[in-house]
Amino acid sequence: MNRQTRNTVIAGNWKMNLTPSKAKAVIEELKPLVAGKDNCTTILCVPFVDIATAVEAAKGSNIKIGAQNVHFEEKGAFTGEIAADMLLEIGAEYVIIGHSERRQYFGETDKTVNQRVLAALKAGLKVILCVGEVLEEREQDITAEIVSMQTKIALLNVDEEMMKNIIIAYEPVWAIGTGKVATAEQADEVCGIIRNVLSAKYGNTVAEATTIQYGGSMNAANSAELLSKVNVDGGLIGGASLKAADFAVIVGNAQ
Ligand code: PEP
Repeated sequence: MNRQTRNTVIAGNWKMNLTPSKAKAVIEELKPLVAGKDNCTTILCVPFVDIATAVEAAKGSNIKIGAQNVHFEEKGAFTGEIAADMLLEIGAEYVIIGHSERRQYFGETDKTVNQRVLAALKAGLKVILCVGEVLEEREQDITAEIVSMQTKIALLNVDEEMMKNIIIAYEPVWAIGTGKVATAEQADEVCGIIRNVLSAKYGNTVAEATTIQYGGSMNAANSAELLSKVNVDGGLIGGASLKAADFAVIVGNAQ
């Protein structure tokens, strides 16, 4: 890891798991386990209805709370959607945008990902932007092209200053929730490709300062190796973030 120029970030994505009471219990259990582990930023991205409880439970700890999606309009007739200022008002600091499950099941496109990124940043949220190839694209040897294109479109009209509030998560879709983890070399290579895209667009200083995580079946056992790579500045963790003990090991491996 390159801690001289960038922040290491370990973020949990709880997806559609844990009711508010269960969320509180997991956070209470996690707090002492990650106390003092301040060499990385620790975030939990929880279901919308858990956010207020999670913020309250995490008070006084080093755990930050985020959401898993945000709408791109500020308000209006968008039944079932949540706006950025709603998230901020209940204490969310971060939001995941463009997760592959949103792209796969809910019609998210590179264009709407970009719209959501702009809306979230404008409101003052920090963004965890997800990009990644599907298995077929990896097999066709077009991972670099796909991930570069997703990154470029998602960052349209995002300037250098706004990049301070963006974390990028490289998540190969074939590794999410499948137990198939990318090798540390694959993760490092694609995180490096993303960094090159940032360098071409914003210059080296921004590229070297931006946190780029790996996500996809990262767990307590494989995290140390993945996090040892120079371009892997943290992890976005699904399944293993639901258990406090496992998540705490990953946070520990980022120290
Ligand atoms: C994710 O949801 O972003 C993820 C990486 O999930 P998992 O760790 O379960 O593969």
